[in-house]
Amino acid sequence: MVSAQDQIGLIMQLRRRGIRTTRVLRAIERVPRDLFVDQAFVDHAYQDIALPIECGQTISQPFVVAYMTEKLDLDDRHKVLEIGTGSGYQAAVLSHLCRRLYTIERWRELQKAAERRFAKLGITNITTIIGDGWLGWPPQAPFDRIIVTAAAADPPRALLDQLKVGGRMIIPLGESRDSQSLVQIDKTEEGLVETALLPVRFVPLVHGRVKRP
Ligand code: SAH
Repeated sequence: MVSAQDQIGLIMQLRRRGIRTTRVLRAIERVPRDLFVDQAFVDHAYQDIALPIECGQTISQPFVVAYMTEKLDLDDRHKVLEIGTGSGYQAAVLSHLCRRLYTIERWRELQKAAERRFAKLGITNITTIIGDGWLGWPPQAPFDRIIVTAAAADPPRALLDQLKVGGRMIIPLGESRDSQSLVQIDKTEEGLVETALLPVRFVPLVHGRVKRP
């Protein structure tokens, strides 16, 4: 059984690790992470660790979710694009801080499961899409913010194009799993400004949609 106490414990842990933005902590508090993890790992849902999900993917560590959310610096007028829906946990947290979230996943199973979770939680400002995140989502561009939750060697060109001037993207970049860095990219009138934030470990941003037989 998961209790309110578990959620409080997680929030305290995030605070200790330096997450101080009240809006972000409150958004995390509103999302029951036990709903987003595999039944087998439900006892670990409120520990600050990444856990395996279906299709060989992972639900990110709560600290990384909180940190990326903080760095996105969202407000409730923002239109946001997420690449890599996965369990839907990061999306659910973001949905409480922005106007509308579009989230792209290449695995249908994951997209469907995430949609069921959003419905169960009464979240109505998320649009899920099956597709290739490398291409972004041109019909809804431009976006105020873009968050990528899988790692690439370089930021996808289409995503940079779909970011508003004055907008920000947070993305893990690195050639291999052992050498990734979370990077903030600000799109200014003068061009792109990149800031390295912290070493991370994400699954790769794969090219193409999942092919069906
Ligand atoms: N944000 C997720 C973490 C997901 S892990 C959560 O909170 O649970 C990264 C996800 O990115 C995986 O589900 C993977 O299938 C997806 N992914 C990888 N490459 C992709 C691509 N090109 N387009 C869309 N999704 C992709």
